[in-house]
Amino acid sequence: MYDVERVRADFPILSREVNGVPLVYLDNAATSQKPAPVIAALVDYYERHNANVHRGAHALAVEATTAYEEARAKVAAFINAPSPENVIFVRNTTEAINLVAGAWAAERLRPGDRIVSTEIEHHSNLVPWQHAARTSGAELRLLAMADDYTLDLSDLDALLSANARLVALTHSSNVLGTITPVKAITDAARRAGARVLVDGAQSVPHLPVDVQDIGCDFLAFSGHKMLGPMGVGALYVSPDAMEEMGPFLRGGEMVLEVTYADASWAPPPMKFEAGTPNVADAIALGAAVDYLGALGMANVREHEIALTAYALERFRELEEAETYGPADLSIRGGVVSFSLGGVHPHDISQALDSCGVAIRAGHHCAMPLVRSRLNVPATARASFYLYNTEAEVDALVSALKRTLEYFGDADVRKPR
Ligand code: PMP
Repeated sequence: MYDVERVRADFPILSREVNGVPLVYLDNAATSQKPAPVIAALVDYYERHNANVHRGAHALAVEATTAYEEARAKVAAFINAPSPENVIFVRNTTEAINLVAGAWAAERLRPGDRIVSTEIEHHSNLVPWQHAARTSGAELRLLAMADDYTLDLSDLDALLSANARLVALTHSSNVLGTITPVKAITDAARRAGARVLVDGAQSVPHLPVDVQDIGCDFLAFSGHKMLGPMGVGALYVSPDAMEEMGPFLRGGEMVLEVTYADASWAPPPMKFEAGTPNVADAIALGAAVDYLGALGMANVREHEIALTAYALERFRELEEAETYGPADLSIRGGVVSFSLGGVHPHDISQALDSCGVAIRAGHHCAMPLVRSRLNVPATARASFYLYNTEAEVDALVSALKRTLEYFGDADVRKPR
């Protein structure tokens, strides 16, 4: 039985107050809070083991290197990568995707090739492909969003038919919560000879993700959204795709032999980790993965489905609210984007803050989706994680009711 109160007790920040009331943290799609073992791993590293990795023979260097490589093995096991060598530590999802754009796409794409992405992407999985298309002469085409906030797959085969080399899509939308059928899309892409990059920023923290089952070539995710520290993330690369990648950054640590005239590259993953890596944060990400593994990702997912169902049920009491996301909770993560009549999302967010409730307002780094497909300038967004409770959803709904009272009928119209 999932004991959310026991989970909450592991997160020091959840016991603090803001504005004189208990914090209700519902901005988890932006970043997650950190449990005590993750914070302890950071402190332990700097108090006892700090040294540069892969270069020294002294005790601290060996300890740091061992812990860093153990963390890589934990992250690899968490997503069922065939080997730790298939996991490259990066700063975040954005850097992971840029690494693929710089190290794979820049080497492989030719004029007339096609990159296929979708209308529901975060800027991090759209802007690098706009650039890759522009610099290589490839064409960027997008799978459309259907009216039910899922991907419209009716165009998929047609989009894949002409020189598609890469499909880059999100596993779970940070705006809509939509969980995409990555396995079916990967199968179709494989048949068409295209590689597949999955943006796992909102899936790896929230549901079981198995790269070998999905069959994708690349999976990008951020540590900070999955209980780990900011400043570390990971890129999974399949063995086949790894063969096709040149270096991303060049310098120390990623080389085998260097002369004054030339250099050769270390084998992966070192080839892609130039310079001193973020050792402490990678080790703490290992602690986060241990924590998530002990809870069980299927349990985390179940908890979030129940909470989202409860939230959507309670939102029905708010006549002025419109929510954006699939009705089918089996394909929806714990994200509820919404409008509240004519109240601007930033006003909602500020009013909620005075009640201790932290949510996000804006375009959520998905400007084309929010503006051109949802047809609103911004939305408010509550996003749940493994430590959130029904009582916190109640606090959110009460605060929204107070917000509506405060802004009054004059400002509140149901959006057309
Ligand atoms: N993709 C998605 C779906 C996201 O939600 C985010 C973070 N909001 C990112 C990419 C970018 O993550 P980061 O800022 O950690 O690079």
